[in-house]
Amino acid sequence: MRILIYWFRNDLRLADNPAFTRACLNADYLLPVYIHDSKERDTVYGFERQGPHRKTFLRASLDDLKIQLQAQGSDLLEFSGKPSQVLLQLLKDTAANVIYCEKIEAPEEIEQVSMLREQGADVNEFWQSSMLDPKCLPFALEKMPDVFTAFRREVERAQLKFARPISAPKHIPPLPKVLPQGAIKKISTAASSVHPYFLGGASHAQAHLKQYLERRLPDNYKETRNQLIGRDYSSKFSAWLALGCISARDIAAQLNSYESLYGANDGTYWLWFELLWRDYFRFIHFKYGQKLYRASGLTGRPVKPSYAPSFEQWRTGNTGSELVDAGMRELHESGYLSNRMRQIVASYWIYDMKGDWRAAAAWFESQLIDYDVYSNQGNWLYIAGRGTDPRGGRPFNVLKQTQDHDSQGIYRKLWLSSH
Ligand SMILES: Cc1cc2nc3c(=O)[nH]c(=O)nc-3n(C[C@H](O)[C@H](O)[C@H](O)COP(=O)(O)OP(=O)(O)OC[C@H]3O[C@@H](n4cnc5c(N)ncnc54)[C@H](O)[C@@H]3O)c2cc1C
Repeated sequence: MRILIYWFRNDLRLADNPAFTRACLNADYLLPVYIHDSKERDTVYGFERQGPHRKTFLRASLDDLKIQLQAQGSDLLEFSGKPSQVLLQLLKDTAANVIYCEKIEAPEEIEQVSMLREQGADVNEFWQSSMLDPKCLPFALEKMPDVFTAFRREVERAQLKFARPISAPKHIPPLPKVLPQGAIKKISTAASSVHPYFLGGASHAQAHLKQYLERRLPDNYKETRNQLIGRDYSSKFSAWLALGCISARDIAAQLNSYESLYGANDGTYWLWFELLWRDYFRFIHFKYGQKLYRASGLTGRPVKPSYAPSFEQWRTGNTGSELVDAGMRELHESGYLSNRMRQIVASYWIYDMKGDWRAAAAWFESQLIDYDVYSNQGNWLYIAGRGTDPRGGRPFNVLKQTQDHDSQGIYRKLWLSSH
């Protein structure tokens, strides 16, 4: 008799979740679990690693997943603690043979699985968080081009066809007869405000994508993507992608169908292009791994640690630069920030305030509802000139950015006057 544990990580969905589907096919009894990692509680900088907006979005996503599992006679059991310890205990308590989960190629997540294996646990990991299947790339990941443009060109030249997303499993095996102790009812969420446009969970992700396409918003994406205010200037897929409420493959497939219906245009291409950036930052982890997490990144340049008091000014939106302060307040109030504003505030911290990029990246991790280890680390390294960018850094001139993107002061007024 096969008893399996399915460990949901950043793949909180049933549809197009090949790892979960395999677990369903291979199990007589299946225990779906989610573990709230106790490590998520604090940073060395004195703030929570997972801020209130992230908690709220996660809570809604887990509730949504639980409802879907319950609808098929299963359930989602939540635990809190160190994932390896919790899972080892669960293996014992349920007499399960094996753990299935998605593979996450970032240091802490790799360590979680290594610790399980060191203790004798059988863990089956599946890579599934990219749009493109790494096995189909025209190069080995260790030899992938460092520069994004070269990477993109090779991918485009190969005319890759990505696999079609798969449906949710029709049958989910029943829960084990003996259920483990210690499952928690709910982790409470303190946040009262989350970005008004976002509700966590796979059903909301699918509903949002549907209406995004029905409203033909991809057609204007290239022109609007650098705007700062509102719901429609960019896709807002990121938070659902980060928790895996929807797969990048699913979005790409629906974009393909959209192109078949209405024709491809610059907007649909640019959306694909941005999703490719997401893949790029994932794949670069296979090539450089832990090196991406050094203070110097891929360079030998040391970092001068500087946190307080300038970090407090930046973090709380009190630097005196109006555009930057508006951005930092939006981030704190809503848990979201446009790509343009992320670039501006990041550049300001690194190049104008001469701050330590790691502290600021940690603040983004705490605040962003779309926090994604690969994209956050990759983008911060990129702006700091410590990653693979051949230009060695991306300083932004705040005055020019203000003229280009907020010449009327509407964005600044929105976030500075009321907060
Ligand atoms: C300093 C910094 C930190 C960032 N941290 C994160 C993060 O933690 N999580 C995250 O998802 N994105 C991060 N980004 C990338 C980008 O800002 C967001 O993905 C984007 O703003 C999300 O909004 P959207 O879904 O409307 O994006 P759209 O503009 O509609 O793009 C569509 C999708 O493409 C992907 N994408 C777009 N731009 C990028 C990019 N530069 N890098 C990687 N993927 C991209 C995202 O999945 C996004 O949902 C960061 C950017 C910077 C400059």
